[in-house]
Amino acid sequence: MELNNLMAYELLEKIKNREITIQVVIRNAFDRIEKSDKLFHSFVNLSKEKALKKAKDFDSNIQKSRKIGRLLGLPFANKDLICVKDFPTTCCSNILQGYQPPYNASVIEKIVEQEGAIHIGNTNMDEFAMGSSTETSCYGPTYNPWDLDRVPGGSSGGAAASIISNQAKIALGSDTGGSIRCPASFCGVVGLKPTYGRVSRYGLIAFANSLDQIGPITKCVYDSALMLEIISGKDPQDSTSVDIKVDKYTEEIKKSVEKKTVGIPKEFFSDGIEPQVKNSVKNAIKKLESLGVSSIEVTIPHLEYTIATYYILCMSEASSNLARYDGQRYGKMSQNLEGDVFDVFNRTRGEKFGAEVRRRIFLGTYALSAGYYDQYYIKALKVRTLIKNDFQEAYKNCDVIIGPTMPCTAFKIGELINDPIQMYTIDILTCPVNLAGLPALSIPCGFDNDELPIGFQIIGNYFDESEILNVGYQLEQELNIFRKIPSLTKGGM
Ligand code: GLN
Repeated sequence: MELNNLMAYELLEKIKNREITIQVVIRNAFDRIEKSDKLFHSFVNLSKEKALKKAKDFDSNIQKSRKIGRLLGLPFANKDLICVKDFPTTCCSNILQGYQPPYNASVIEKIVEQEGAIHIGNTNMDEFAMGSSTETSCYGPTYNPWDLDRVPGGSSGGAAASIISNQAKIALGSDTGGSIRCPASFCGVVGLKPTYGRVSRYGLIAFANSLDQIGPITKCVYDSALMLEIISGKDPQDSTSVDIKVDKYTEEIKKSVEKKTVGIPKEFFSDGIEPQVKNSVKNAIKKLESLGVSSIEVTIPHLEYTIATYYILCMSEASSNLARYDGQRYGKMSQNLEGDVFDVFNRTRGEKFGAEVRRRIFLGTYALSAGYYDQYYIKALKVRTLIKNDFQEAYKNCDVIIGPTMPCTAFKIGELINDPIQMYTIDILTCPVNLAGLPALSIPCGFDNDELPIGFQIIGNYFDESEILNVGYQLEQELNIFRKIPSLTKGGM
């Protein structure tokens, strides 16, 4: 049976109908990883023995017709900053080498413990999720399965690469300024950043608390809806999670989109956006119109300030969050213990954090320091409110806001890593969503001349995940490109 091209929900059907055993599914996932991960480097740690044992137990439980989980037997890839009990969770940083959390994140409890997905390993990411290319990982980069010379996007690059190459069927990422949607766009998969508060962050190792959200990375919108249904909801362990009704997203997506209105911000099509990206997105808008959707122009006037605002805030929060890693309270200590305790703290942090993380700690500390706090941090908070208001103004006239996810397609490895400003600039269309706390979905809408995927972004109003998934699903069906896979991953790979 050709397992590899099945969507997660299709594989689930086969498992439930006992057309295939879970042991075959999980063995197949590890076979693929063994063959292909030399090329892609999606994973940083695997959980083979435990996964195979679980598969065996589940197979015998199915025979006994015990309760069947909603994700039963699906190979699940976790991002390396979401805590899995007794499994290395390192944020792809040298400072967390050897760390094994004593507890599961709430999302892991739900996906794995309650619904029966099988954790096959942790995926590669930028160190502490700081980046857009998965090049700052202490384990080295992930390679884009569509073109091995290119980045998979970031920071959840390993997760997106593992989904498009069929190593895993479902994955989790985290999105602070685009880290789910950017790799989804560059790898041609579906990435969903939920509303801030929709999904519990308990057990997510923090980068910037007021912006971080966990979300699914999958092959298709249905799989994304299914995962969101499971991971959403109030969690007493996370006081920022919200008690708002969780819709049956897998049903909501099937509704007609006729008579809906999509808003197209004129700023999302400025000169900085590559022409092929613009064309592909415009083409997808026409498809939506053919489904009875009307489109109107809207405006996000403060978009030009989003990069500065986002980077001041995320660096400030990161500098505070990462203060705990000193080798004493948290993190792995330097081998060299010369000098007093502060010498050892400084040496540890200097040695174990990578260059990008150190840069952000410096800049964040500066923005928060006395004398500059009002000028940078407080000012950025004020602009954040203006950006939120821009979106609220736009939603008076439309149901969802659409545009490209990224201004470009996947770039070459090494191309931007030494030009941080340029690297930050490509987050222009994703980070406003985090500043406002809104939900957004990225789905593939086409390919450029180099056969690289292009992402289409659908941004909803607060807790309107049903709306974005509905529009995304109907567009996905109409475009019908979601089964396309990179030629490198065909056959045995
Ligand atoms: N590229 C952004 C950054 O480097 C987003 C990262 C993220 O969402 N975790 O901050």
